[in-house]
Amino acid sequence: MYFKKVSLIVCILFISASIFTIHNASASGGFEDISLKHEANEEINNLVVNKSGFPDVAVGRKFSGYVEQQQFSIFKSEKELPVQDVAVLDTSQVIGLVSSTTDGLNIRKSKDSSSKANIVGTINKGGKLSVYAVEGDWLKVSYNDALAYVYKTYAQFLDADGNALGNIEKQVTTTQSINSYVKPTSSSKVISTVNSKVKLPVYNTVNGYYLTVINGVPGYIVADSTEDVKVEKPSTPNPTQTPPTVSGDLLGRVTVDNLNIRKEANSTSTVLCKLKKGEYVQVNSINGYWAQVTYNDQKGYVHKSYLKILNQSGNPLKDRIIIIDPGHGGKDPGTVVGTIAEKNIALKVSTLVTQKLEAAGAKVLMTRTGDTYPTREGRVDFTHANYGEIFVSIHVNYAANTSAQGTETFYAKTPGDMHQEDIDLATFVNNQIVKNVNMNNRKVRKGNFIVIANTNIPAILVELGFLSNSEDRAKLTDDQYIEQFAESIYKGILEYYSKQ
Ligand SMILES: [Zn+2]
Repeated sequence: MYFKKVSLIVCILFISASIFTIHNASASGGFEDISLKHEANEEINNLVVNKSGFPDVAVGRKFSGYVEQQQFSIFKSEKELPVQDVAVLDTSQVIGLVSSTTDGLNIRKSKDSSSKANIVGTINKGGKLSVYAVEGDWLKVSYNDALAYVYKTYAQFLDADGNALGNIEKQVTTTQSINSYVKPTSSSKVISTVNSKVKLPVYNTVNGYYLTVINGVPGYIVADSTEDVKVEKPSTPNPTQTPPTVSGDLLGRVTVDNLNIRKEANSTSTVLCKLKKGEYVQVNSINGYWAQVTYNDQKGYVHKSYLKILNQSGNPLKDRIIIIDPGHGGKDPGTVVGTIAEKNIALKVSTLVTQKLEAAGAKVLMTRTGDTYPTREGRVDFTHANYGEIFVSIHVNYAANTSAQGTETFYAKTPGDMHQEDIDLATFVNNQIVKNVNMNNRKVRKGNFIVIANTNIPAILVELGFLSNSEDRAKLTDDQYIEQFAESIYKGILEYYSKQ
């Protein structure tokens, strides 16, 4: 329910008698929930009163002031006249706030985009609207004190403070049935209820509440009624590709502690000895995920994911298996400003990065090469199935505050992982972009995005710049700058592999 129902009486018998006006004022006892702009106003103004015993509403004159709700009910009960129900906006029923992601977004009286007749107004990019309900592809919003509709695709939900949601920090699972609230307090309106054991993303933590999104609508849930989803390292994946065999002048630097050297190339084989983080081994050959190494004159096998493979001759990128992940795609445009979509910028930059890496001899695989939408989990699986050695996801940022600008690069810290490798890769790439494209440095940050938290290799997510900022946007839509973004990412990766 989103309305209060107010019964109005329309009397057609005494149309020529008196007319009164009801104001949207806050006088005590006044009929203050009806605004002059309200669609019922006309009917109220034409309401004719011909009844003694209404001290405030004299017969035969225009009433300018306030009408008591009680008077209406007396009038209604004593006069058997046609009654019309009129919906009055009840702002306590607002479930959220959206901002338009495009200029000239039509606001319509009905959920029909086929005609112009129902357009009651438009709103420009960044304009905000209160939302009362999500109805299919439409959002029911308030506009000029009446309910109206906008197309959902061009509106972005904001948090309770009116800011963009930002990035997913982690995933949690509900431990009991819980409510999602409009604000981070249980005294605010309940948007929806979620069952126990439901996995939800967390965008922010506010006073013991997590900001999450349920059925496309942001809301706040009690943090204590959830538990963190443990980020599991994939065990030996089930590769679908033909394992690449690489041999040559290779060194491996161990990126985790207690790395097993095994007698055979499988995870159940006898452990010959253990390696410490930072130790080097001679890599004789690589077959799929297994590297045959020589250590203390002894030959054995280690899992390739826990070695940084270092070419000792030729280009540092030669034969390295690099996964490039253009963010979003297909049905998921990512951030949109006007006709500019994040997915297209991400693909452009990613394609150029791939070409540069390939020219240097790397083996590069893109999670998408066209306007398609691989799921985030699918991108992780793709990385493992292709024996990826590093993972680079490319995105574009958005903030409600248009002054936010610059480049930031995320890595995910997962227990016992090759943390320093992530930071190295993120730092090299981030700093190359900042330097070459002259971007504001928002630095390297921790962020548990699904694609980087679930890959068991050094993995980063680059936010090139803010589409919401005019300076950044000018660069992100200029092909010469796009080339520089790509060149910088390439150089950052080269720097990572050049570091022994
Ligand atoms: Zn993105």
